[in-house]
Amino acid sequence: MTLQERDKKHLWHPLTQHKIHPEALPIVKAKGAVLYGEDDKTYIDGIASWYTAMYGHCNEYILEKVQQQMQQLDQIVFAGFTHEPAIKLSEALINILPDNQEKIFFSDNGSTANEVGIKMALQYHFNRGEKRNTIIAFEDGFHGDTFGAMSASGLSVYNGPFEDFFINVIRIPTPSFDTIDSIIKQIQECITTNEVAAFIYEPLVQGANAMHMYEARYLDQILGICKENNIITIADEVMTGFGKTGKTFASDYIETKPDIISLSKSLTAGFVPMAVTSCTQEIYNTFLDDSIGKAFFHAHTYSANPIACSVALAAIELLQSEEIQSNINRIIKSHKQFDARIKDHSKVKVTRQQGVIYALDLDIEMDRYGKKRYEIFDHFMQRGVALRPLGSTVYILAPYVITQEQLEKIYSTIDELLETL
Ligand SMILES: *Cc1c(COP(=O)(O)O)cnc(C)c1O
Repeated sequence: MTLQERDKKHLWHPLTQHKIHPEALPIVKAKGAVLYGEDDKTYIDGIASWYTAMYGHCNEYILEKVQQQMQQLDQIVFAGFTHEPAIKLSEALINILPDNQEKIFFSDNGSTANEVGIKMALQYHFNRGEKRNTIIAFEDGFHGDTFGAMSASGLSVYNGPFEDFFINVIRIPTPSFDTIDSIIKQIQECITTNEVAAFIYEPLVQGANAMHMYEARYLDQILGICKENNIITIADEVMTGFGKTGKTFASDYIETKPDIISLSKSLTAGFVPMAVTSCTQEIYNTFLDDSIGKAFFHAHTYSANPIACSVALAAIELLQSEEIQSNINRIIKSHKQFDARIKDHSKVKVTRQQGVIYALDLDIEMDRYGKKRYEIFDHFMQRGVALRPLGSTVYILAPYVITQEQLEKIYSTIDELLETL
């Protein structure tokens, strides 16, 4: 039996309607920006496996650090014990996070990082003797698939069965020149009629929302109102974190700093799952008390796993290296040149870029998970490029280590696609 046949026997894939979806493609190896299929074909990983493997798959430097750590300490309960990899990582993160961040809490993935952020915000008010029960979020945002994170995400058919069980969320549009005034009004009304605990948002770029981008200054206005009303602001930087927007964090573009930041995905460079929720000293302090009841009773068995921490530490070192920084600048420039070349093509509706994140909307009719999407996906795969269009949006978020030649290959397959549409 082939891997594909065996896969079908017992596996249930995420985001997959198994009755109609095509078969999953077996990948046997990955190195740098390249995926190796069981079919002996190679594919350039144009989206860094959902923006995790930003330093390249199976990065040698990280591998070395992981091997060392695996021989030293594999796992230890993080309640009541501590270890150097977590301590060093907390220092490294606080060093690069916005100045107001002081505390690091560990969990396992992007959804749990946001779940923790939402729970922290709710308990922050609870501990201060205020019962606030409502979250503000962007209507097309994505924060994950656990209950709190799902509730704070945009409404969609995929979450239909669970809507009755959502936590209280008020949804606002992402801001633009035309909408900011009405959004501010909506928030002000919302504050007078609800007990708003927190505002959760993906700063500047909404990944799952087809790489929708919006401007820092409008977000700044929203964050300003939140600050005035002691609404805890939670920046979901699970996608935008660690250099992708052109600065270390998207929040670095915004004057008003968030109270809480969620990180995952490229935090651990595609090696192992881990997540972090950071917060300010002020938030942390409201959990300090002589009674145990005010403590934050949230734990995951693998919290701060030493191996995962060693990966994250090595990844931050790489991010700060001259080599990766110059690669980031090269990719940003390169995308700009590509954009100038294709933005006026008749099949291109609109393009956008923030740092190394580049997206273009095709000027064609199609459903997000419809047949056309698979045809476009196949177009790229047949040419040895792994891109995963979101509806009619094609986006590139390649590993920082992608060579110029590999990047040009991605561009030329997009050129070819535009000619076939
Ligand atoms: C991927 C993602 C999440 C969810 O992370 P998981 O690790 O898949 O649970 C949350 N927020 C954003 C912005 C994401 O891109």
